[in-house]
Amino acid sequence: MLNLYNTLTKSEEIADFPSNEVKIYLCGPTVQSSPHIGHGRSAVVFDFLFRYLKYLGKEIIVARNITDIDDKIIEKSLEQGITYSELTKNVSKEFIQAYAALNCLKPTYEPKATESIDEIIDFIKILEEKDIAYQTSSGVYFDITRYSKYLELSGRSIEDLLSGTRVEFIEGKKNNEDFALWKLAKENEPSWKSPWGQGRPGWHIECSAMIHGLFGNKGIDIHCGGNDLIFPHHENERAQSETAFNSKFVNFWLHNGMVNLAGKKMSKSEGNIKLLSEFLDMFDGNTIRYFFLRANYRKPQEFSENLLKESKKTFVNLSSFVGDINSDPVDEHLIKIFEESMNDDLNTPKFVGEMFNYINLNRNKDQEKTLKIRSTIKYIFETLGFTFVSKEQNQNNEIFREFFIQYEIIFTDVNSSMSDYIAMRQELRKQKKYESADKMRKDIESIGIIIEDGIESGWRWSTN
Ligand SMILES: [Zn+2]
Repeated sequence: MLNLYNTLTKSEEIADFPSNEVKIYLCGPTVQSSPHIGHGRSAVVFDFLFRYLKYLGKEIIVARNITDIDDKIIEKSLEQGITYSELTKNVSKEFIQAYAALNCLKPTYEPKATESIDEIIDFIKILEEKDIAYQTSSGVYFDITRYSKYLELSGRSIEDLLSGTRVEFIEGKKNNEDFALWKLAKENEPSWKSPWGQGRPGWHIECSAMIHGLFGNKGIDIHCGGNDLIFPHHENERAQSETAFNSKFVNFWLHNGMVNLAGKKMSKSEGNIKLLSEFLDMFDGNTIRYFFLRANYRKPQEFSENLLKESKKTFVNLSSFVGDINSDPVDEHLIKIFEESMNDDLNTPKFVGEMFNYINLNRNKDQEKTLKIRSTIKYIFETLGFTFVSKEQNQNNEIFREFFIQYEIIFTDVNSSMSDYIAMRQELRKQKKYESADKMRKDIESIGIIIEDGIESGWRWSTN
């Protein structure tokens, strides 16, 4: 049975979900600047979870939001002299490309804050009707004294909060720790109409409203995110959702550890950010996935270029050991190692260690055994989202990569690169730049792809 560590109960629990359909929410990025290694870790370690749940026969429904409006986004866009939507569009694209390069499964839903304003307003109205939310001259706030389980998730005490200097004094708030659900707009800020005046949603309400909109008011099975989100973000999400509907919001709270650089948490405030794109260019998705596989997802993980080099070497060796195997004999013992490790709160480092011990133990024994081990490793690693490509495929990918990069599209696989390519061409046609659009159609024929301007569907492509 799968056991998962639940931040709420601070213990490992058997993950026996009530139905075969597992409802999952993963806090996605605030698209203010390019994705860094820490974003990659959260995406990949939970991708291991999603894939393992699928392996166990579960049907997973995953929502990962995009926060495309907040204070920092407004600040950043002003700095760069572009609109907030230009900024978020660019950064969102970078995130989507990075997720694809890391071979993370596409979530079932990818809601954006700015496209969920109606749901957010409706949610705040529910809280207001129950007298849990109240308005001040600067916005609408959540009264934390109305939720008796407040701080249960993070295990903090009100005294901790009071002694912290994080909370700035805001006029009209009932309690210093009350948090904003709706922020009234200051001059020249992007804003939306609401019963409380022009403004924008607070960050925490966005996730609660999206979960409610997508999954209803009976809550979800798993909520995941980085452990830097436990407080205040997840604490506040929980307070909002449980007081709004008087029911349990989340069964399992899962949190990944941070990435450290020379012992310090990688974060914008520390100023030690390492961008994902830099390392995806230097290495590849498999290497970075393997790097994350080697560590326990809940613990901090030290990052360095040398550690990535090591990961690359190990994974390349493993790939050459697997070779071009195409048979499917199964080594039961190796499967057992895999399942036992994953069932133990996704203990991927344990799996890696025991797998290598097992390979060494059986090295140079009989050929049939080796064959079984090789095909099983391939099967397990593909289950976890790694890809083994043949030399020929590799050469092809290189050709695709070189082609798409001319259009600033990072090649991951033909489908996703083509969808970017076609969108780019569609944009040109919309702007009536037919010559450039036609050039794009002709250019791509060089790698054997034909774009047909269909009448109904608009666009189709096929390899010849
Ligand atoms: Zn969230």
